Parts: sequence; structure tokens; C-alpha cells
Amino acid sequence: MARLVMKFGGTSVATVERIKNAARHVKREFDAGNQVAVVVSAMSGKTNELVAWCKEASGLYDQAEYDTVVASGEQVTSGLMAIVLQEMGMPARSWQGWQVPLFGSDAHGSARIEGVDGAGILAGFDRNREIAVCSGFQGVNPRTNRIVTLGRGGSDTSAVALAAGLKADRCDIYTDVDGVYTTDPRVVPKARRMDKVSFEEMLEMASLGSKVLQVRSVEIAMVQRVPTYVRSSFDDPENPNPGTLICDEDDIVEQQIVTGIAFSRDEAQITLRRVADKPGVAAAIFGPLADANINVDMIIQVVSDDQATTDITFTVPTADYERAKTLLESMHDIIAYQSLQGANDVVKISAIGVGMRSHAGVAARAFRALAEKGINIRAITTSEIKFSVLIDAAYTELAVRTLHSLYGLDAA
Ligand code: ADP
Ligand code: ASP
Ligand code: MG
Repeated sequence: MARLVMKFGGTSVATVERIKNAARHVKREFDAGNQVAVVVSAMSGKTNELVAWCKEASGLYDQAEYDTVVASGEQVTSGLMAIVLQEMGMPARSWQGWQVPLFGSDAHGSARIEGVDGAGILAGFDRNREIAVCSGFQGVNPRTNRIVTLGRGGSDTSAVALAAGLKADRCDIYTDVDGVYTTDPRVVPKARRMDKVSFEEMLEMASLGSKVLQVRSVEIAMVQRVPTYVRSSFDDPENPNPGTLICDEDDIVEQQIVTGIAFSRDEAQITLRRVADKPGVAAAIFGPLADANINVDMIIQVVSDDQATTDITFTVPTADYERAKTLLESMHDIIAYQSLQGANDVVKISAIGVGMRSHAGVAARAFRALAEKGINIRAITTSEIKFSVLIDAAYTELAVRTLHSLYGLDAA
């Protein structure tokens, strides 16, 4: 007997018919004698609709009420899943975040999980192996008693945190692809499914744009040692494939230099021309952006030839682009730059692999390959196990495919 958490994403619960199909996967595990907690997302598209309603109601909506609205999508699917499981003859009940309870910080819209109390769910397991169907994405703040949500894609994090809280043997993330691929299979049909991927690489891939798992879920899986699989809810419930295991680097026998390519359209570029080249200028620019909670990612400062002025280029999330520009324009006199240029039709392409630690020249090969395709690089960053380039968005697919082949990742 094992204890399992099974998470179903938006496309896997998009209709009552799909919920019935997901329930057949649950039945397989239940019939095998396992204790099962299920975590569900909202029906696909639902959360976007709820977010749009908040924006329509007010340009400056109350974040706590936003959470009340957007958490409702998961309440619907948890109830429906419980009804379907009961209909199929299994003991089941729904659990909202506040009922579990799953505690979250008061950062509405992007709360961090502070703890999960699994006692109620465990009592149900002991009583009659009752299946706990939990609403993903939501929790409660223990101090304010308000509903909080965990950020977009947060049901992955609910599932892994619940698995840790229940000391589950495994967390299975069921989605619309049968595992983690070397890059988004929707963009590169030649992408390959991996049997295993290391925590470190998955963390980088998720934070650099591979939305197959929310970054926080990978962090929790890594720190709390939760064996986590990504697998397909569209497999035959009687004969499913195991999917991709996220695991320790040491458990992977054959290491590639580059294991995956990720891309993010969530980047915008800002360039300040002819900024005074003197001590304190970077602080004058990036201090106020940090105070305004705007995350700066890539930064390039050009060495000036006149020793008096320099150009500084950096990227911010698309959602903060207008805010960042307005802030910098309001500080024109203090920072003393000649002009501000911006672009949000850019994309960040990244290559990830633990093998980069021990191999030189990995990024240089990419620069050459992109140049041969006529793709101009606007900015570059590198770190221990990844490098990223910022390019025009129009070249996204060409660049991803070029790097995917370059590093030998294409399926035969
Ligand atoms: P869910 O609704 O189940 O949470 P998501 O849409 O959040 O599903 O995540 C699954 C999607 O992630 C896939 O349909 C795929 O297009 C995308 N994706 C991006 N990068 C990858 C990758 N490296 N491997 C697999 N899927 C990826
Ligand atoms: N429903 C939420 C979202 O769309 C959470 C999730 O699906 O993981 O972001
Ligand atoms: Mg998701």
C-alpha cells in the first residue's frame, strides 16, 4: 500500500467528461489499495476568465477580493471530482484550502505556503480510505483568516506541498503531455521526453519559462524530497506510462551537457542612453525599481569610450514594463540620461544543463549558430548551469529549434 497525491491540471478537468476520465486514473490507484489525495486545478480557461472579471470590475481591485474570486474555479472542480468518484463507488469528499488547512502568507495573488495540516485528511484515510479531493491554488492566511492564492500555475505547488505534509510516497502531476520534454513539444515537434530530469535543471527550466511545472513546486519537491512525476491524464487509465521523474542529479546515469531549452515571452527590454558614467549611477537606477517591486533580470552596461557617459540595458517582466518606464521617466533629472528606449517584442531563450559546469564554450557555440541564422542577440546572461539570450520575438521558434538541434536534443 502506498500513499499518493494525484494532481490534475486545467485541461485534464476541462469538462465533466474529462473529470470522469481523470477519476478512472484515481480508481486504478484506489483499487490497488492505495491511500489517495487528489488535487485539482480549475477547468482550463476558467482562471483567466475570473481574472478578467476582476479587472473589469475595477482597475485597482483589492487583492484579497481578487483571491476570493479566482479561488472559486478550483472549488467547482473539487466538488465535481468528489461527486464523480462517489458515483463510481469510491468514498470521497472535497476539501477547500481553508478546510485542509493549507496555510499561506498574506501576499495575495502570490502567497507562499507556510504549512499544511494533513490531520483531517489522514483521519479520512484511516476511517475508510476516503479520497480527499483538494482544491489546488488556494489556501488560508492563519492571521487574517482570508483566502489566499499561490500564483498562476499554483496547483502544482499545492500538490507537492500536500504530498510533503501527508508524507506521501509519491506526487503524480497529471497534465496534457506525457512528461517533461527537452523543450516545449508544442513548439518543437522533435522534442524528446525525458525519463528523468534533475531538480536543479527542472528548477531552471521552470523559472526560465517552461510552464509545465510551477517553480515553487520544484523547490518544495527538492527540499522536502518528494518523488514527483509529470505524466499524462490522456493515457489509457488501465495502462498508463510512468512519465518523467524529477530526481537527484546523481540518480541520472547518462548526463548530457545541455538537457533542455526554455523560452520566455515574459520579458521586456529597457535601454537608457548616455547615462552619466560615475559611481552610484547603477544604484540610482536599480534602487527605485527594486523599491517598486520590479524584478530586473538581465543587465548590460557598456564601457564608455568618452569616459563621461554610458548605455545601460536591462530586462523587466512584461507586466511591469509600463510601470518601469513611467518610473524611470519621472526620474529623468536625477539619473540624467539622454533618452529611454524600450521593446517588449523580445523573448529570452535559455539552454540548461548541469554538464555546463564542466564544459567550456557551450554558450559560444550557440552564439555562432544563431548568427548563422541571422538572429541578432540583444543581451546575454550566463550562470553555472544555464545561459540565456534575448532576441526579437519573431525569431522565437527558429532560435529554439536551432539550439535544440545544435545540442543534439532532436528525436531521431
Ligand atoms: P496543466 O493545466 O496541466 O497545469 P500546463 O499548461 O500548465 O498544464 O503545462 C503543460 C504544458 O506545458 C504543455 O502542454 C506544454 O505545452 C508546456 N511545456 C512547456 N515546456 C515544456 C516542457 N519542457 N516539457 C513538457 N511540456 C512543456
Ligand atoms: N487555476 C490556476 C491557474 O490557472 C492554478 C493552476 O491551474 O495551477 O493558474
Ligand atoms: Mg500548470
